[in-house]
Amino acid sequence: MNKLIRCVNCDEVFLKTPFDRNPEYDPPLPGKPESFRVTQRDDFEDFLKIHRDHHLEPLTILKDSYISEGLYGDPLRTSYFKATNGKEVFLIKRFREDIHQPMRYQLIYGDYELRLLRLEAQSEAILKQWRFEFKKNPSLLAQGEVFLGILQKVITTLQVNQLERFDEESPSSLEIFYRLDEIGLAYLLRNCRNRFKREDYSEIEGFILRHKDDGVLLLKATYQIQIHEKVKTKKEALPTVLSLEKEKALQKKKP
Ligand SMILES: [Zn+2]
Repeated sequence: MNKLIRCVNCDEVFLKTPFDRNPEYDPPLPGKPESFRVTQRDDFEDFLKIHRDHHLEPLTILKDSYISEGLYGDPLRTSYFKATNGKEVFLIKRFREDIHQPMRYQLIYGDYELRLLRLEAQSEAILKQWRFEFKKNPSLLAQGEVFLGILQKVITTLQVNQLERFDEESPSSLEIFYRLDEIGLAYLLRNCRNRFKREDYSEIEGFILRHKDDGVLLLKATYQIQIHEKVKTKKEALPTVLSLEKEKALQKKKP
């Protein structure tokens, strides 16, 4: 069971995992299996030493608050989640600058928001599929871009928060796929019916119906994490300012 511990004095956090006391294994260098190294770690002991005599409190991690930048497989990606001491909710940033370093956790007073950067068609995949399916139909083959233009116009009329999410594993938690809704679908079909010849339209209608739910016609939304930092209340901020000034005073005293 993972436990998040906050030092109230320093506003530092430590994630206590069942692995703290386990030795850390470095993967062998390519072609050199004998270079397998084992490093003994006890990071929590270090944390306790640094924050001796400070006020420590456990934080509860809020379920489903986890969000991450970058691809899931990327060991250097930065993530955020929320945690509470029962009175206040904090934002925790999880990151590391170097793959050989353990994950670091930073407590932030504030919250995050997911901002929609764009909602778009999977243009390349659509054109590729179009060329594949209509390669024996010269009149349609040349009109993939026209169809894409119509779809893109339809997308500008959609509200992402009213679309149904398609729950396929995405390589990033900031890229989410959605299905065209009924209204968008009807609008797309009507525009295609108006634009294309009757025999071409029936082919296109088939294309749309084949791919609308789980194929190339899924819409891709790209989000960005925005962090909104809160200014600490005066009462809480005071000790930090004081200790900073104390530090400056100490530094001045140094020769
Ligand atoms: Zn401390």
